[in-house]
Amino acid sequence: MTNLIPVNEPLVGKSETDYVAECLRTGWISSEGRFIREFEERWAAYCGMKHGVAMSNGTVALQAAVACLGLSPGDEVIMPTFTIVSCALAAVYNHCTPVLVDSDPDTWCMDPSRVEELMTKNCRAIMPVHIYGHPVDMDPVLEVAKRHGLVVIEDAAEAHGATYKGRRCGSLGDLSCFSFYANKIITTGEGGMALTNDDHYAERLRSLRNLGFRSDRRFYHTELGHNFRLTNLQAAIGVAQLERIEQSIAHKRWMGQAYTERLKGLPELQLPVEREWATNVYWMYGVVLRESAGMDAAEFAKRLAARGVMTRPFFLGMHEQPVFSQMGLFQGEHHPVAERLARQGLYLPSGMTLTEQQVDRVCEAVRDALGGAK
Ligand SMILES: *Cc1c(COP(=O)(O)O)cnc(C)c1O
Repeated sequence: MTNLIPVNEPLVGKSETDYVAECLRTGWISSEGRFIREFEERWAAYCGMKHGVAMSNGTVALQAAVACLGLSPGDEVIMPTFTIVSCALAAVYNHCTPVLVDSDPDTWCMDPSRVEELMTKNCRAIMPVHIYGHPVDMDPVLEVAKRHGLVVIEDAAEAHGATYKGRRCGSLGDLSCFSFYANKIITTGEGGMALTNDDHYAERLRSLRNLGFRSDRRFYHTELGHNFRLTNLQAAIGVAQLERIEQSIAHKRWMGQAYTERLKGLPELQLPVEREWATNVYWMYGVVLRESAGMDAAEFAKRLAARGVMTRPFFLGMHEQPVFSQMGLFQGEHHPVAERLARQGLYLPSGMTLTEQQVDRVCEAVRDALGGAK
């Protein structure tokens, strides 16, 4: 690991204010303007993709990415169960069926060795999600996708700048999607982007984002579009954030190392990993309670809160969501790894302004809260 210095100043710099002021001064406040173009071009280039299509958030970027494939009702999209609801929504809003994969117990990302067994004649796409900053083991996913003619849509919302075998997350699939929500490594407040090398997909994404307008004939519609546009004001913030991304990633990696150093001696906790083929950007620092802890994450969170430390629970798998059972989806499915992660996992304070002192305090509270179980 390199660059492991704590970055303790708040990472809200001068340039956001300057760039946003430029939008206001020049009147370019909606979804046209130089910052939109720059943000799209520079983010695509940073990730190693040809086209960037900025969207109003990460959820609709995923929805548009599935939509631009032109799938038919009942077509299947393979995805991890352990993810945010946005992934399943992207399939369901496009009348497709999400097909769920359990997680790898160490990286918490979808287990690629379980993908092949899910293949049916209706499978059209795979949506791997890089969880909490650690990349999915992509080669086996890409290999299965190629063999079966499936499109790969990466959800890289939590993995800005992470790498897989030296390549950036977001450059590995046919399409990739990012969120720039406030807690993401690069933020525009609300925002998202879809990336692709494919000219046809890019054209489709631009049309879907903008009410289904066609580039050849405006106000003439041949399909149902959306208003998924990002504003120049938001993109201005994104450009400023992108100019500091190495500092932000260095902060996250410092945080990851700082927590791991302090917590690795605790037998009750499973900590995040960094596989030899990956760089983890530690978007969130998760911990998973082992059986020996004698409590679940909800109890642990309560104890930490009582010691002044706020935490957030892990995802609850898509197969355990009432909204999807009510639709008849995922009936009788069990995904033991995701179920354990949901019950035993939480993440510790992981924000951009976290200081070394705060890490010390959190780790003290963690030790104390674990001890209280016995
Ligand atoms: C944050 C996130 C999203 C959704 O992004 P929004 O901008 O909040 O809509 C999608 N996928 C993953 C994995 C995320 O973490």
